[in-house]
Amino acid sequence: MPPPSAPKGTHDLLPDASAAWRWLHGVHAEVTELHGYRLVDTPMFEHTELFERGVGTGTDVVDKEMYTFTDRGGRSLTLRPEGTVGVLRAVLEHRLTEEVRPLRAHYAGPMFRADRPQKGRYRQFHQVGVEAIGERAPALDVEVVEMGRRFLDALGITGVGLQLNTLGDLDDRLRYREALLGYYRPLVDRLCDDCRRRLEINPLRVLDCKRDQGLSVEAPLITDSLSEASTAYFAAVQEGLVAARVPFSLNPRLVRGLDYYAHTAFEYWHSSLQGAQNSLGGGGRYDGLAEALGFPATPGIGYAFGVERLLLIAGEQGTAPAAEPACDAVVCSIDPAQAPAAAEVARLLRAAGVRTVLDASDRKIDRKLRTANRLGARVCVIVGEEEAREGAATVKDLGRRTEERHAAERVVDAVHGALRGNAA
Ligand code: AMP
Repeated sequence: MPPPSAPKGTHDLLPDASAAWRWLHGVHAEVTELHGYRLVDTPMFEHTELFERGVGTGTDVVDKEMYTFTDRGGRSLTLRPEGTVGVLRAVLEHRLTEEVRPLRAHYAGPMFRADRPQKGRYRQFHQVGVEAIGERAPALDVEVVEMGRRFLDALGITGVGLQLNTLGDLDDRLRYREALLGYYRPLVDRLCDDCRRRLEINPLRVLDCKRDQGLSVEAPLITDSLSEASTAYFAAVQEGLVAARVPFSLNPRLVRGLDYYAHTAFEYWHSSLQGAQNSLGGGGRYDGLAEALGFPATPGIGYAFGVERLLLIAGEQGTAPAAEPACDAVVCSIDPAQAPAAAEVARLLRAAGVRTVLDASDRKIDRKLRTANRLGARVCVIVGEEEAREGAATVKDLGRRTEERHAAERVVDAVHGALRGNAA
């Protein structure tokens, strides 16, 4: 039997990549908290019905991509394919919007879709996102879109375009639906199998087809089906974005795959990512979702960014931090007799905030020094027989290749001094 490997479509976060990972999550929390959003964390699995009702049967996500299982109690559960439905469920279940509207929340975590894996597309991937729940106002749409832009700017990522569209309200979409049916029905023979099925369930999704044979180019536009009120709403969002100096391109074909979107829909596209994988993140207003889930009608808007794709671009553009060393200092004993004294020195250093690895193994000192270098340590503190007897330690500056013996109470200062000198 071959040794085990990670399941297809998943990936491991390894220590060298952890600084960039943490940076990205930190930047997202910082930017969103600057706007009054607070962290929420919801379960990685929910009742399957929640996604069926919320994301919608007839969508690829629900029909083909969900990881669904039956638990021991015979309940059908599903690993969350996206974050909005769970966050909305949590906010409304705990009645948070009764006190504050809109309720502003940010989240981060893994999502699961049984998609075909390729570059930038995984079966377990990660998103950072926000939801603003309980208010419908163009200014809130602007806030969310602008915050996404600020997040990308804070990551230092360039070359990102904002695609903007409106999906109108329910009546607009019913009118649009009829217009699309009128257009596509005579062309049904040229649609793929999936789209023939989609056409009757939700013709908007036909516009999203990855195997489209150019038919969508001539298809009617949502803008022609909008009521006056929806047109005014969309105009106010655009004005707000102009005032916020957030550039955008209108894209009347941007429909997004999920059922519950209304009014504003947007995506951030990056030119260096190819095809369907060019979207770094996207979001929109989901005014019909709460009702679809069985809660009182509650409007909301949010976005989600793909962490792996952002890190790919940030890595290529050199804006993500490099791997961080495991420690600042390594404390080594020369032989096992000094292990307790070395351990005590390590304790002192850690208490003083120095990231310290203790090497009290019985390996030879030159091997210990090599390991200290590999760990990225800038200082090695050596406790040999003489040092232990005198209650001292030798502080070796690995950068400058100097060393000095110090009494135990001076070691922390000496290490701090060496680290400062090295950092200069
Ligand atoms: P969505 O929830 O489909 O709107 O996706 C939002 C963002 O999540 C996308 O723009 C991608 O950056 C990311 N994303 C979606 N699906 C995947 C996937 N299978 N693998 C990696 N990232 C994904």
